[in-house]
Amino acid sequence: MDFDVLFQSQIDALKEEGNYRIFAELERKSGAFPKAKCHDDDAPDEVTVWCSNDYLGMGQHESVTKAFKDAVDMYGAGAGGTRNISGTNHAHKLLEAELADLHGKESALLFTSGYVSNWAALGTLGARLPDAVILSDELNHASMIEGIRHSRANKVIWRHNDPEDLDRKLAALPANSPKIVAFESVYSMDGDIAPIAEILDVCEKHGAMSYIDEVHAVGMYGPRGGGVAEREGLMDRITLIEGTLGKAYGVVGGYITGSEAMCDFIRSFSSGFIFTTALPPAVAAAARTSIQHLKQSDQERLLQRERVAYLRKRLDQEGIPHLENPSHIIPVMIKDPVKCRMLSDYLMQRYGIYVQPINYPTVPKGTERLRFTPSPLHSIEDIEHLVYALKDLWKQCAISHAVA
Ligand SMILES: *Cc1c(COP(=O)(O)O)cnc(C)c1O
Repeated sequence: MDFDVLFQSQIDALKEEGNYRIFAELERKSGAFPKAKCHDDDAPDEVTVWCSNDYLGMGQHESVTKAFKDAVDMYGAGAGGTRNISGTNHAHKLLEAELADLHGKESALLFTSGYVSNWAALGTLGARLPDAVILSDELNHASMIEGIRHSRANKVIWRHNDPEDLDRKLAALPANSPKIVAFESVYSMDGDIAPIAEILDVCEKHGAMSYIDEVHAVGMYGPRGGGVAEREGLMDRITLIEGTLGKAYGVVGGYITGSEAMCDFIRSFSSGFIFTTALPPAVAAAARTSIQHLKQSDQERLLQRERVAYLRKRLDQEGIPHLENPSHIIPVMIKDPVKCRMLSDYLMQRYGIYVQPINYPTVPKGTERLRFTPSPLHSIEDIEHLVYALKDLWKQCAISHAVA
């Protein structure tokens, strides 16, 4: 059997739809964010990155890179084992204590990524709690969906950000089955924010546990960067808060926080926690420094908010339609995969602006978009250049000015 023919035919189908993924090959330059060297043949040598999840530029913050380097000198490169077998470094424990404190919880558990933390935590909860039902917001991230699938627990999908639908669906379940309500705070593609308090009211009414993914909110919202739940004073009502160290914190890794018993339970039964090499201690040290910095500094968050507001205002002035939302994410809707790819290519090639096209299956077909994430390190000139380029392309490509 010629397997390559099988592989190629599916790849060709993706290409035909315009959904084939092409990765930009970048070289981030420490200290120069959001500028990066670009290795793509038809792009300028230096580009401005407009779609990074390093929302605050912390990946290049001096205190973070210094902590990383110092920790490599102290501990070496790798952890040397799984958490269970010799790989638990003092730096991991310090980071877990920092995370528990960030969210006001008894305990925290570190994973190799946010994806793995969702997959492993939901997988373990759903599989190990007898007769568990997981109620999942319909727009939940792939990592939660895969975790729920892996758990083989019963799954109920509720309408996006709709506490009334959640209430109806919880009411229809047997009173004595353990129920887990899984949702996100900031949804990263539309940039909308969940009505957390209302969802928690419903969870409490039905005795359900609440599971929130604050991946796009930690570091970004709340007086200490604890996320939207911190901002709204709701952290103590949430059973499990999950987050990443790879987005606003600028490093890599994922985590959950909650009660001592729950974290110990997941630590003890989760294959995705146990059977994998622990993160390098230097990663843990750098992430902890980043968290500590953003706990006491509001400067990055405030400047970022200014930049976001400025880009929105300029887009409005030029009639470039973008989705309104209360977060830091600015989606410019293109609604066609081929056009979306083409615009992204033009922006890169002609203007040195890098924004990845967001196509299916990341978003539903027909809602293709360019997703801009201004950071505190994007200058006013960067923003003006972007607006100029978009205006120019809108004229040339006859794209609708109608608001999405
Ligand atoms: C990116 C993302 C994750 C995964 O986090 P990583 O640390 O990048 O693996 C989880 N949930 C949501 C909503 C995400 O967008």
